[in-house]
Amino acid sequence: MEINGQRLIDDLRALREMTATPGNGVTRFSYSEEDGRARDYLARIADQYGFAMETDAVGNICIRPPGSKGRLIIGSHIDTVRNGGWLDGIYGVMSGMEVLRTFADSGVHTDAMLVIYAEEEGSGFGSTMTGSKFLTGKYKAEDLTALKDEEGRTLLAHLKECGYYREDVPLAMDLSGVDCALELHIEQGPVMDREHLQIGIVDTVFGMHVLEIEFSGLGNHAGASPMIGRRDSMSAFGEAILAIEKTAIDAGHGVVATIGKASVSPGGSNVIPDSVRFTVDIRSNDDGITGETVEQIRRCAMEIAERRGVECTIRDVADSSAIPFSRRIIEEMAALAEEQKLVYRVMDSGAVHDTAMLAPFTEAGMIFVPSINGRSHVPEENTNEDDLIRGTQFLMDYVSRKS
Ligand SMILES: [Zn+2]
Repeated sequence: MEINGQRLIDDLRALREMTATPGNGVTRFSYSEEDGRARDYLARIADQYGFAMETDAVGNICIRPPGSKGRLIIGSHIDTVRNGGWLDGIYGVMSGMEVLRTFADSGVHTDAMLVIYAEEEGSGFGSTMTGSKFLTGKYKAEDLTALKDEEGRTLLAHLKECGYYREDVPLAMDLSGVDCALELHIEQGPVMDREHLQIGIVDTVFGMHVLEIEFSGLGNHAGASPMIGRRDSMSAFGEAILAIEKTAIDAGHGVVATIGKASVSPGGSNVIPDSVRFTVDIRSNDDGITGETVEQIRRCAMEIAERRGVECTIRDVADSSAIPFSRRIIEEMAALAEEQKLVYRVMDSGAVHDTAMLAPFTEAGMIFVPSINGRSHVPEENTNEDDLIRGTQFLMDYVSRKS
């Protein structure tokens, strides 16, 4: 069965217009007006095809063709980061819709359904993959009031306003009959584009450990304090930045370490800082290797601090395990790609996705298509139309074998 590639591209272009920041990438936060317009767009297609559409109390959507047992999920998200790209999430959603439409147009039965996970990006409430965490029971009813936006308004208040949260609607839809979950997504990194790959089959989603490190030295006058004898927390930070980078490079195995946030106190041009606090995000596909790298970074920070006469405190902020996808799905997809003579690779994902949340509960797998220049979460995010269509056709072919 052949998908309608032009219809897919037309849908994606139409959805690109549903943004709060016209001309500056796509900003479509969950529960916003733009999100509502994208949901209406999906509802119109569902209606046209006679697909049943349900929304649970946290805003996850399920679209199911008549007679489908819903054994197989094709899912992704429709929300974006601020000034994000036009493909992250929505590409997987519209591809899923295209697969369902192709089954319907061909008069072929499927047990697949499309799931749109709410609030994946964490733009609103500081928590990523909110919808899929409710679906898998990681979040419970009490989290509806624990999760708050920047103004302190609870997730529950937003859900009530949108009309999703109602007494007669289940908190999260029941996925107990599901035995396979799939997601098609743009790679969001440079590997596929650089190596001219057409299809990426995802092996493992990186595990992550986040540290918060604080160097506390002696704040003092910038002019009256000679260079000798200073206890400068900023200099300790400077040394730590390069040492952490080197630790990750030396660790190999694709380990990545990122210092993405730092604050300097008190932050005056004529004051030696008394403290610098920063985060280190460490990831790899192997929890053992991630753990060893974290320990090395700890030791290294302590050693720098001691040598420079500053205090060092280290806090663990977040920790998540690497998530392997189903071996069987990886092998089946690789066999299909071989058969179709596609240029493919089995590869890891440095980014986390909703389907990884489902992986401990059901057989799960993901497909990537290239991102031009590896750019994502920016207005420049793009993928060649041929690659977008090829990815969806590959998903179609895999689903038609599976359902
Ligand atoms: Zn995404």
